[in-house]
Amino acid sequence: MTTQVKHYINGEWILGQGDKQIAVTNPANNETIAVVNAANDAEVLSAIDSAKTAFQSWKEVPVSERARVMLKYQHLLKEHHDEIATILAQETGKTFDDAKGDVWRGIEVAEHACNIASMMMGETVENVARSIDTYSYTQPLGVCAGITPFNFPAMIPLWMFPLAIACGNTFVLKPSEQDPMTPQRLIELFEQAGAPKGVVQLVHGDKTAVDILLTHPDIKAISFVGSVNVGQYIYKTGTDNLKRVQAFAGAKNHCVIMPDANKQQVINNLVGASVGAAGQRCMALSVAVFVGAAKEWIPELKEAIAKVKPGLWDDKDAAYGPVISPAAKQRVVSLIAQGKAEGADCLLDGTDFTVEGYESGNWVGPTMFDKVTTDMSIYKEEIFGPVLCCMNAETLEEAIAIVNDSPYGNGTSIFTASGAAARKYQHEIEVGQVGINVPIPVPLPFFSFTGWKGSFYGDQHAYGKQAVRFYTETKTITARWFESDIAVASAPNMTID
Ligand code: NAD
Repeated sequence: MTTQVKHYINGEWILGQGDKQIAVTNPANNETIAVVNAANDAEVLSAIDSAKTAFQSWKEVPVSERARVMLKYQHLLKEHHDEIATILAQETGKTFDDAKGDVWRGIEVAEHACNIASMMMGETVENVARSIDTYSYTQPLGVCAGITPFNFPAMIPLWMFPLAIACGNTFVLKPSEQDPMTPQRLIELFEQAGAPKGVVQLVHGDKTAVDILLTHPDIKAISFVGSVNVGQYIYKTGTDNLKRVQAFAGAKNHCVIMPDANKQQVINNLVGASVGAAGQRCMALSVAVFVGAAKEWIPELKEAIAKVKPGLWDDKDAAYGPVISPAAKQRVVSLIAQGKAEGADCLLDGTDFTVEGYESGNWVGPTMFDKVTTDMSIYKEEIFGPVLCCMNAETLEEAIAIVNDSPYGNGTSIFTASGAAARKYQHEIEVGQVGINVPIPVPLPFFSFTGWKGSFYGDQHAYGKQAVRFYTETKTITARWFESDIAVASAPNMTID
């Protein structure tokens, strides 16, 4: 029997009355494993309304009690780690280890939310003028919403709702319609952790549901993660409707390899960071810029990437799984064809790769191009598949100029044994997350996820102190108390015990 994915509205799990049914498929064979009725307008409006009502009481719950819900939640997520990862692997095709990593990086944010009291502390200055003190509080905004992509169905929702709710907000989550079962499980566990009715709402659907969230006056802030075009649309529409918006978008991440780097470390790291997770990571290293003699390592890198074998989520030998959908596969293989037509040197072509018995799945084998130039489509487009583009530069300056000319700025890495080269790179590069001999430099939750340029629209980023600023308002109070008004001083018959 096909599973029916549910919405969570006003503390009730419902199937939804919407006319549009969306199939959730196993990317390894495209068989339907679940269906979800996209929420209709009335259901989305009811979720917002219920979140608005719940806000009135949730914002009064003491911060330590809110933190205790997060503590319980973190514990439950850890207890159910393997179970969530299994659901996630089945609907995304990710290998089990990769699925566990997706969940774990989300658990770390829930863990971070347990520390909410110290993160919400304001500032104080005594005696800003005679007998006058100024101090600030951070207060929640109201109803916040999150719109999330398919590629991290546990981590990215967990970037958003635990911190927003720990701050005292209520939250409406609209996850990707391609893998909604993982978010459903996350919300079930949140309910089990003791979140009161209405504090979190889960609505499934697509653009129709998103458009209501973007325009509804009761939604105060929107967190979005997804592709560039949709990110720009969300940012423009949300801000046009006078909302606070943070929109994390697509990427094209470069890795610069200096000839003094540790060759084996470079090869090992590049294999996983380029084609791992089928290249469906916003921090994947999809462009490798070899400086000077480092280009002589390309044949060895090719040999290592050629050994990578995709497979089923529960195959322990599989390095990665299929891409999410037939449309995603079609896009990747057509970009590979364009790469060849535009004159790049195709060293490995995964277009025809398949897994025996699963020929109808969305498989793409590891693919590698050399002699890629910045005018080619495979360079300009985010491929979001297991495809590595290699380029050459004569000097570090030339490599830095290539990276800085890219419209994206999510992540980058340099591999080198030179502290001076690393220092120059970290200082001059116009990218928000930089790795030095580290391939995928995703900061832990006590920092923030700080993409730049076309990879991010907004100012306050995900998790860490920036997320707390995003999900709160600052109230600054200036107070004067007159000493002459102290009752005991002016009333001679009053005593102090
Ligand atoms: P997507 O943009 O297609 O979808 C993201 C969300 O937006 C989904 O919930 C979807 O239902 C909704 N949506 C889709 N089209 C819409 C429209 N026209 N109007 C309103 N809402 C719409 O993204 P995806 O394919 O699910 O995810 C992959 C993309 O996400 C990649 O580009 C990747 O780089 C990016 N991503 C970025 C980060 C980051 O931190 N920068 C992290 C993960 C993924």
